[in-house]
Amino acid sequence: MSSELHTEQAAAVVGGGASGLIAALALAAGGLPVTLVAPPRAPDARTTALMDGSVKALDALGVWPLLRRDSSPLRVMRLIDDTGRLIRAPEVEFRAGELGLEGFAWNVENEALLAALDAAVAATPAITRRAASVTGIAETGTHATLELDDGSRVIAALIAAADGRNSPCRRAASIEVTSRDYPQVAVTATLAHSRPHRDVSTEFHTRTGPFTLVPLPGNRASVVCVVSAAEAEALAALDDAAFAREMERKAHSLLGTMRLDSPRGSFPLSQRTATRFARGRIALIGEAAHIIPPIGAQGLNLGVRDAATLAEIASDARRASRDIGGAEAMDAYERRRRRDVGARGVAIDLFNRSLLTDFLPVAGLRGLGLWMLGQSPALRRLVMREGVGPTSDVPRLLAGARL
Ligand SMILES: Cc1cc2nc3c(=O)[nH]c(=O)nc-3n(C[C@H](O)[C@H](O)[C@H](O)COP(=O)(O)OP(=O)(O)OC[C@H]3O[C@@H](n4cnc5c(N)ncnc54)[C@H](O)[C@@H]3O)c2cc1C
Repeated sequence: MSSELHTEQAAAVVGGGASGLIAALALAAGGLPVTLVAPPRAPDARTTALMDGSVKALDALGVWPLLRRDSSPLRVMRLIDDTGRLIRAPEVEFRAGELGLEGFAWNVENEALLAALDAAVAATPAITRRAASVTGIAETGTHATLELDDGSRVIAALIAAADGRNSPCRRAASIEVTSRDYPQVAVTATLAHSRPHRDVSTEFHTRTGPFTLVPLPGNRASVVCVVSAAEAEALAALDDAAFAREMERKAHSLLGTMRLDSPRGSFPLSQRTATRFARGRIALIGEAAHIIPPIGAQGLNLGVRDAATLAEIASDARRASRDIGGAEAMDAYERRRRRDVGARGVAIDLFNRSLLTDFLPVAGLRGLGLWMLGQSPALRRLVMREGVGPTSDVPRLLAGARL
């Protein structure tokens, strides 16, 4: 069996996680015929806080109306120093209203997000979905050929590789990654609680990393609890009721009593960055290109910007009758994504390390920085704006515009 779908303007997306589904929708919105190669995926009990720009992009792609009711806005972000160290930072609150936004981000369960993306993909005639895995890639001067495990092939001028952290496409393109492992694990769960969260996301800064409560619809919140590997093991050994009590204790009972409302997850913290985001006709998207620790809700938001940027470059090339996967397009992708991904990786690394260190001057600097944020609305707005997303070279979809 062989797929004969091939024009010089056809794109293929590899991977049916959130980044791949968004890339397929964005490329199709840019006027390209797309083959999405997506094997069945495992259940995902996590949640994702989608920043304002990502929400605008999903709205422009017709996905947001399917999701809005399942998501909760983060109108206020509260940072609390719970390190118990000699020098402690003051409590700081960021209000989305200061930026004229309803919310910095909207938190949604990954299963709801993926279901909405699946539905949007199914309703897009320009996308052909194949429930298969890629087993090999060959490139010629004008196109790339994907070999699938069902014996068929897909031929395309551009390959958007959204095939996750171990990305077979990245390996096929001989792209290396730089890696950093942290001595921490993110323990995740959704909890029901007795007091309302009032759309406030609270981040306790502890000596092992942040403990973050992110609002969900109803009296529910997702928890990302960054702890040492030993504490993660101890938490895993607790039964559900004892685990919920421990989360309540870490939350200082801010949201009242807690009850587990989802399976629990455990994710060792690491940072990985591909040394190139594109080579030949293969562009890396999402975790195939970068993995950053789940601190500050940046990971998939970067993936949305990857997808939106690649789709913009490819659709502009299509309109100008240029090669959508040629060197010019791929160089532009590399250039446009490098700074955003690099800057966020550095910021999260520095912040995480500032929590782990007992070195007094570093704790002092973090405290001073947060104190200044509390005092200066202008500085606060600057930091809030950057936290929500880049302020320069923003892809059109992120501004809610059509491609
Ligand atoms: C605890 C935690 C909390 C997080 N919270 C947030 C948050 O609040 N906000 C945020 O923006 N980000 C968050 N993230 C990051 C976010 O979850 C990831 O960025 C996102 O899930 C990555 O999606 P992806 O599509 O790139 O990769 P994946 O979801 O891993 O998808 C990759 C897909 O590729 C497929 N695949 C693999 N090999 C092949 C092959 N050979 N052929 C075809 N397909 C293949 C797989 O089946 C898989 O479906 C969080 C991460 C963690 C760990």
